[in-house]
Amino acid sequence: MAIISSSLNESKDPRSNKDLRIVKSLKIDEEKPIKSNNSARPQTLKEFIGHEQLKSSLRIAIEAAIHRNECLDHLLFYGQPGLGKTTLSLLISTEMSTNCKITNASAIERPRDIVGLLLGLKKGEILFIDEIHRLNRLTEEILYSAMEDFRLDLTMGANRGNRCRSINLPKFTLIGATTKLASISSPLRDRFGICQKINLYSVKDLQKIILNFAHNINIDLDEEASLKLAQSARGTPRIALRLLKRVRDYAQVFNKNNYVSIEVVEKLLHYQQIDNKGLDETDRKFLFFLENNNGPVGLESIAAGLGEDSSMLEFIIEPYLIQLGFISRTPRGRILTSQGEQYLLDVISGQ
Ligand code: ADP
Repeated sequence: MAIISSSLNESKDPRSNKDLRIVKSLKIDEEKPIKSNNSARPQTLKEFIGHEQLKSSLRIAIEAAIHRNECLDHLLFYGQPGLGKTTLSLLISTEMSTNCKITNASAIERPRDIVGLLLGLKKGEILFIDEIHRLNRLTEEILYSAMEDFRLDLTMGANRGNRCRSINLPKFTLIGATTKLASISSPLRDRFGICQKINLYSVKDLQKIILNFAHNINIDLDEEASLKLAQSARGTPRIALRLLKRVRDYAQVFNKNNYVSIEVVEKLLHYQQIDNKGLDETDRKFLFFLENNNGPVGLESIAAGLGEDSSMLEFIIEPYLIQLGFISRTPRGRILTSQGEQYLLDVISGQ
């Protein structure tokens, strides 16, 4: 597997502003650099926990492609950060016994960047483009014929001297990942044969992921502790793994061993002000802001009021609050639901 640009440029990512937030879903150390023997990443589809429906449709597509001796249709994964989009792409390349070249759309600035990537592909290889909604228009246009006809249509020379040249490409699979499906233009979206949403994980699946990872990094984690961590991980494996690493620090510093009990987990969550729903200070401020404003509030107003980045609120904070049923999005803005109000009453009364 070749890595062209292995990670999101986190410093440029507005979502990375709040570095101190433990329940954020930016990459953890074990995932950097992305490599196939990474201890945090499952190596085969079988090891990939949860999302049975998604896995079985991928398995069918993979087996059919292998049977026909063709490459897999272009694939688009969408969902929040940390849910396994990159992991799935690497797994697919393992299952297809091919290489996966990984890049990020923000690293593809000029047409020659995407041309270089495409020309460097060998037959059957996978090109994974993370945050694909950030591609610029010129790059997208080059991708259209590359994806559809495996051909590069290039225009050379300035103005009057323009010449068109076509170069045939080997057949390849493009896997795109995005957190913002709606920001992908429809001509690009339509060129993906398979489009899959990755949902948040159930507590049970997160618990399995946590127990597996604990085993890999040599932590002795009891059942109750793993359940508590899973409940606090906001449906996101990356957050689960991050929490697990922090409790390991606690156990090693305070107890001088690798045993993580429910007490250690509770201490960490209390210290980080994370409650039993996995909500932290930022979430609670968001909810209180809605309550104080009494009525639908626009995202930009909330962002200004809280001093946060609106895309961080939209893609990191809101989806989980919506899943809990605490807020809803309406055309006129965000509103607090009755469940959200009840949660805030419980917070105030200290329950
Ligand atoms: P994304 O690309 O969606 O941001 P990643 O694929 O980088 O997310 O996954 C984040 C982390 O969570 C990785 O360390 C990965 O190993 C782990 N992970 C994600 N999904 C699963 C899963 N289903 N089973 C086990 N680990 C997972």
